[in-house]
Amino acid sequence: MSLVGKMMDRPLLVSAILEHGAHQYGEQEIVSRETHGPLHRYRFVDMAKRAKQLANALDAMGLKAGSVVGSIAWNNYRHLEAYYGVSGSGRVMHTCNPRLHPDQLAYIINHADDEVVLFDATFAPLIKAVAPHCPQVKQWVCLSDAANTPQIEGLDVKSFDDLIAPQSDQYEWPDLDEKSGAALCYTSGTTGNPKGVMYAHRAIALSALSACLPNVLSISSEETVLPVVPMFHINAWCLPYACLNAGAKLVLPGPKLDGASLYDLMESEKVTISAGVPTIWMGLIQHLEQNKLKFSTMHRTGVGGSAMPKALIAKFNDDYQVEVRHGWGMTETTAIATMSSFGGPDRVAKQGKSVFGVELKLVDDDGNTLPRDGVTQGELMVRGQWIVSQYHKAEKSALVDGWFPTGDIATIDASGMMQIRDRTKDVIKSGGEWISSIDLENAAIAHPHVAMAAVIGVKDPKWDERPLLFVVRKPEKALEKAEMLAFLEQRVAKWWVPDDVVFVDTLPVGGTGKVQKNELRLKYSKQ
Ligand code: ADP
Repeated sequence: MSLVGKMMDRPLLVSAILEHGAHQYGEQEIVSRETHGPLHRYRFVDMAKRAKQLANALDAMGLKAGSVVGSIAWNNYRHLEAYYGVSGSGRVMHTCNPRLHPDQLAYIINHADDEVVLFDATFAPLIKAVAPHCPQVKQWVCLSDAANTPQIEGLDVKSFDDLIAPQSDQYEWPDLDEKSGAALCYTSGTTGNPKGVMYAHRAIALSALSACLPNVLSISSEETVLPVVPMFHINAWCLPYACLNAGAKLVLPGPKLDGASLYDLMESEKVTISAGVPTIWMGLIQHLEQNKLKFSTMHRTGVGGSAMPKALIAKFNDDYQVEVRHGWGMTETTAIATMSSFGGPDRVAKQGKSVFGVELKLVDDDGNTLPRDGVTQGELMVRGQWIVSQYHKAEKSALVDGWFPTGDIATIDASGMMQIRDRTKDVIKSGGEWISSIDLENAAIAHPHVAMAAVIGVKDPKWDERPLLFVVRKPEKALEKAEMLAFLEQRVAKWWVPDDVVFVDTLPVGGTGKVQKNELRLKYSKQ
């Protein structure tokens, strides 16, 4: 019989992260770009006080433990206060993606039983459309002061500042069970209704610690971190927690995510680490190239959410001296599940090794485990302390033999290096073989005149499916189909080369910065 460990049984809680940050790094700054007005600037200790005022306000409103508070908001300081005040006091922070269709937004607000919804003034028209369909929401709160809180016809909207102003900044955080729900996020629902993932306090605390590790994002109190990845999606990869953990300065970019605005903020706040999806970095690089700019402090960036093309990794490394860390994760994995760090663009273009606490394996259609030889492709399965086990309110477990099936197709090599080859729904099946849309996109983006590229499969009578390439040219750059195809022929197998190229001005990009291939399929799949 094993002996019992004699350690204190202290729970891993979101409130503990806040208290640690406020006590150990209380003077550290949080800078936030607001929907209105100049940059807002305060310290960890100030944030902690306002989070406690919010917790008191929620008590005063009669919200019980386990009640759900929704948010439809950018990365800003009041949203951060809600992250801590809501979860710390035993309620659940339900972050909603504002770019969901209003019907889906209403669906998730109702499905999650949101009793209070916090929103940014930008989203007032959306709230107006959604509110009539969400009768159980008792209070709509604008994340703003009273002066900038919009009136919405037929709705009682309070300003966040007014809501918390009368409350004490002292609060005794409850000693919650670390397995209780702290935050809730829904998948984007590209197939069927969105599914909710309820993150436990423990999952968030562990994942936030992991994000700080040297092989992950290497966050310390010497760094200034700007999460571009939205706080409404996958907990902004747990960075709002990780920075309090590590004592790193936090810079929140608000609604302005274009290249010029991000660059200005990175320079003015001396940002050293950032994180976001590849499309954001493409916009940033274009701005730098067009204006012949360099970074003066940025030295590392975490990318993920979709594959980061090797050409872009090399550009960051060589032209801008910014080290790229390429991670993989999904709503169901709380935050970062794998990370590729060090070793140059060839290696970093892969999605990397699993972080401690996350295990990976590949299976075939019959569930048999496949070899880790770097060649055999199969569905990626994950298991770990911060991986979903069951979707919110679902009747059945989300697992197969104790593992979560990701819907991603990957290879893993003998050293544990994982590479995503495609999503099961995006992979192109041509003549009985698979073509990786990701590999084709990466090959296309390597052309110096290509700003963005996307590949979908279109029906073909002979081959079943053939790849169709969409290209956004860089501004004022010429590129024609023949040249694009000739360029690809040098880089991919001949039968992978698309039959056609569609040049477009923009690609449809969803709320989390990923190209919406569904939209492309709807429009072009019959071509
Ligand atoms: P959705 O894209 O449906 O909104 P998520 O935001 O949860 O869902 O995204 C998870 C998916 O994003 C993964 O299953 C994977 O397909 C894709 N993904 C995440 N990171 C990467 C990456 N680094 N490379 C390729 N694909 C990635």
